[in-house]
Amino acid sequence: MARIARFEIAGNIHTAIDTGEGWHQLEGDLFGQHSAGSPIEVPDKRLSPIEPPAIFCVGLNYRAHAVEVGADLPERPVLFMKTVNTITGHGQNIEIPGQATSEKMDYECELAIIIGKRCKNVSAESALEYVLGYTCANDVSARDWQMEWGGSQWCRGKSFDTFCPLGPELITADELSSPNELEISTFVNGEKLQHSNTSDMIFDVPTLIEFLSASTTLLPGTVILTGTPSGVGVGRKPPIWLKSGDSVTIEIEKIGALTNPVVDEPL
Ligand code: ZN
Repeated sequence: MARIARFEIAGNIHTAIDTGEGWHQLEGDLFGQHSAGSPIEVPDKRLSPIEPPAIFCVGLNYRAHAVEVGADLPERPVLFMKTVNTITGHGQNIEIPGQATSEKMDYECELAIIIGKRCKNVSAESALEYVLGYTCANDVSARDWQMEWGGSQWCRGKSFDTFCPLGPELITADELSSPNELEISTFVNGEKLQHSNTSDMIFDVPTLIEFLSASTTLLPGTVILTGTPSGVGVGRKPPIWLKSGDSVTIEIEKIGALTNPVVDEPL
């Protein structure tokens, strides 16, 4: 039972663990033997709680979201990926691309799974044994690059720097009785624009791990974004696009609230 956070002070990266008695330096291997060392003060501004080797993403995993973007309900999970340069943490800026200009910046609240053990060909029945924990994710998307200028591939529009805020903390899997019974919301400047429950996923967490690990090795630290519910900016009439000065918060029950300011990319 624990919460895990990472942060940087004076160029040094620290990993901290809170097992219910406050934050302590994590000693040892997060994916293996570890213990709580000396007490440590954790700042509000964080790094991502994990540095993933890969980020798998599932599109169209909530019925109402598939409808709002005009897509058919998928027969199997729709897989795409984000690159690891997208990772950022709680309190850090989301940058609107300036060199690769975007005018259609969107938010997506998502439950993120963090894989704890190397695995392949996992059954849904045993899938949760391979989960280290969960955190909040924002699958930031440049819809112009995703839908108009990406040659029908989503990678470009999903993979600019800062497009994958994760945090504020990783909650170990044993802290949740089920990952598929959590309220999930997005707030932009305090206004609630997305709200659902992870019970509304078309493919639940064990099913996603079975699907993604089929003939595919999942490495420790791999992050899986599980899809977003309805209410994204592109689905609204008129659309809502993020702009410099906005603040986006992804909130998931029992996990936390991930907040990031939006700024223009410094050039
Ligand atoms: Zn997404």
